[in-house]
Amino acid sequence: MKYNRCGRSGLLLPEISLGLWHNFSNEIDSYENARKIVLEAYENGITQFDLANNYGPPPGAAELTFGRILKEDLAAHRNKIVITTKAGHLMWEGVYGDWGSRKHLITSCDESLVRMGVDYVDIFYSHRYDPQTPLEETMSALDTIVRSGRALYVGLSKYPASKMREALDILRELKTPVIVDQLRYSLLDREAEQEHFALHREYGLGCVSFSPLAQGQLSEKYLRGIPADSRAAKAHGFLQVEQVLENIEKVRNLKKIADNRGQSLSQMAIAWQLANPAITSVIVGVSSVEQLRENLAAAENTNFREDELC
Ligand code: NDP
Repeated sequence: MKYNRCGRSGLLLPEISLGLWHNFSNEIDSYENARKIVLEAYENGITQFDLANNYGPPPGAAELTFGRILKEDLAAHRNKIVITTKAGHLMWEGVYGDWGSRKHLITSCDESLVRMGVDYVDIFYSHRYDPQTPLEETMSALDTIVRSGRALYVGLSKYPASKMREALDILRELKTPVIVDQLRYSLLDREAEQEHFALHREYGLGCVSFSPLAQGQLSEKYLRGIPADSRAAKAHGFLQVEQVLENIEKVRNLKKIADNRGQSLSQMAIAWQLANPAITSVIVGVSSVEQLRENLAAAENTNFREDELC
């Protein structure tokens, strides 16, 4: 595993991280499968595990599953692992259960720590920009979370570029250790290239990309229909069948390039990000150890020819 510096911070992150958005529910998914994935990841040098308060379903379930794995298998390794969590999306019913108020962020952070059975997380994120709450309030809540020892660093996720700049200016003034932006980026969604990458360079921020396979679309699984056990087929999955059908021609064309490179499509989609110095770490999501192994092997070929990139 290669480790990249997260922006201008002292923190090194693995170039591939594991995300627990899907496949780690303590009600729907198999605990043994979840455990195997996390342990395989750690054994292969993945030190960053990405969670959020609401990952499940139900919300909180992934943190409970991860907390159990941590306790039963990795308790002695806490200081070798970067745990990230977030607040900002709907977590519980009632007026304090989502968005960016101080009330939501700090209460949610406390509950995440309890669910995972840890004293602190390494990075705590504001999961999304809240247009109704003053940015000063959300940023001061992040500052409190660090100064009270609940998190070591903070990050922002999915903020529009202009709001991100304002937020970063506030955090700079507060001297809060904000080190990372987490955003959607893949061969099917390159919006981040428009403004965010330049902002990261300007502010010395790391960039962690999520959904590098566009939730599985950039694999070979949908080329012959919608498999029953796939994310697109699951009622609780976030991937819509219409989305898959809309992109299928592009995916077929990308697969031809991957075939010529001697890589699977998933490997090429990840390798394309590993080759990009703008990306600190790519967060992959997997439903099996086999998928994880395939994706880790992306690092074996990250050289792209000009004609492949154009
Ligand atoms: P991906 O785009 O990597 O999609 C993961 C899915 O792709 C898997 O569940 C699996 O689907 C399929 N897949 C993965 N590898 C393979 C393979 N080798 N062959 C075939 N299919 C494969 O990432 P996610 O969308 O899961 O996002 C990754 C992480 O990013 C999340 O877990 C989360 O931590 C973070 N994230 C953050 C967000 C934010 O708002 N900050 C939003 C979304 C994600 P299947 O289940 O069908 O097998």
